[in-house]
Amino acid sequence: MHNPERLTLDVLRDGLEANKQSRASNYVSAVGTTDAGTLLRDELTGEEFLFDADVVINATGAWVDETNDSFGKRTSFMGGTKGSHIVLDHPELLEACNGRELFFEHTDGRIVLIYPMGDRVLVGTTDIDADITEDSICTDEEIEYFFELVAHVFPTIDVRRDHIVYTFSGVRPLPKHDDTQPGFVSRDYRIEKRTDRRAGKNVTTLSLVGGKWTTFRALSENLASEAMTALGMPRKTTTSELQIGGGKDFPRTQAEERLWVNRTANEVADRDRVRVLLTRYGTRATDVLEFLGQGGDQLLASTNEISTRELTYMVQNEQITRLADVLIRRTSLAFRGLVTEAMLTEMAELLAPQLGWNEAESRRQVESARDLLVTMHGMKIAAAV
Ligand SMILES: Cc1cc2nc3c(=O)[nH]c(=O)nc-3n(C[C@H](O)[C@H](O)[C@H](O)COP(=O)(O)OP(=O)(O)OC[C@H]3O[C@@H](n4cnc5c(N)ncnc54)[C@H](O)[C@@H]3O)c2cc1C
Repeated sequence: MHNPERLTLDVLRDGLEANKQSRASNYVSAVGTTDAGTLLRDELTGEEFLFDADVVINATGAWVDETNDSFGKRTSFMGGTKGSHIVLDHPELLEACNGRELFFEHTDGRIVLIYPMGDRVLVGTTDIDADITEDSICTDEEIEYFFELVAHVFPTIDVRRDHIVYTFSGVRPLPKHDDTQPGFVSRDYRIEKRTDRRAGKNVTTLSLVGGKWTTFRALSENLASEAMTALGMPRKTTTSELQIGGGKDFPRTQAEERLWVNRTANEVADRDRVRVLLTRYGTRATDVLEFLGQGGDQLLASTNEISTRELTYMVQNEQITRLADVLIRRTSLAFRGLVTEAMLTEMAELLAPQLGWNEAESRRQVESARDLLVTMHGMKIAAAV
């Protein structure tokens, strides 16, 4: 699944590189303001530095108010709700879905879903008022709710806890709501603008309140237009028809996908491998394949879903800095419950020389990835063989 965490931070990082003010990693937080600019912190090294800008875009999702607070500007725009999902390894349920997403109103009036995704079934979601300062974890009560909703549609299919391979939970960046039931709060978005005098000049902060994955292109274009207006630069062109990233020329039907895979498979990657790369990178898979062909490569011993040189590609192009990035954020290995102890160790060994980890750091990476998967995502990690 796409990882929105990177978007905000990448913009900051790119801005920093352009400003040549600091050597920043991918994990940068906005933590305050001074007269000289916005204070940023590299979360990997703890280094703090200033970034000067006439317009600051606060697109920190459900944390927008916390970020504004750290700027010394208290706001109460947000009222996020928690939503959890479970991922099931359940061939019978997968078959019963027959390739279709079931999207329906449950007995409590909430719209819920049972969604076949590749070889797994996703079941979700809840909608509960949340405290954004606390970690969001799928609870036992939510799991019971999911079992109930599956039984509502498929009363003869037995779903148990041992079918769950992964759980995840997040807080929706919804606008503050008073009496409205969480499930009925508007999913629309708005942009809140504040202008302050700082060191003799106007600094505009644009806070994004709300938004969905499905509306992110329109929303980004609107946000960019607002930022340009604040900078006194009129928009000259629209990007609404511009295809971007791995979505560019992405095959639209299964037949087109088969054609794409057949056309792209070569001596570097057979059709199965190309299919994996297309799912992972979209049509950018051709760049990955070109890179894989430029040096020695082999599939990992612990999984045939990723190769040694692909890990190098990720280090060089996909901004991974932690083992968990590969497992959770750049691949679906965790999502599909495929992580094993052998995989953790092998990946850490391969990444260590490329990311400058010594033995102790490699061990720490394995431990923290394991801990994250078990405590935040309810995973049971198969022992090394
Ligand atoms: C359970 C659930 C189900 C959903 N289902 C759907 C769906 O089916 N369809 C759909 O379209 N949308 C869905 N959404 C909504 C979608 O996930 C969000 O709308 C989307 O993630 C918002 O993206 P964003 O980049 O604005 O915010 P986020 O994805 O929340 O990203 C904000 C980022 O800001 C970072 N951050 C926080 N504080 C700071 C700081 N001080 N400095 C720097 N960075 C900071 C955070 O770490 C985070 O990475 C769902 C959300 C949830 C929780």
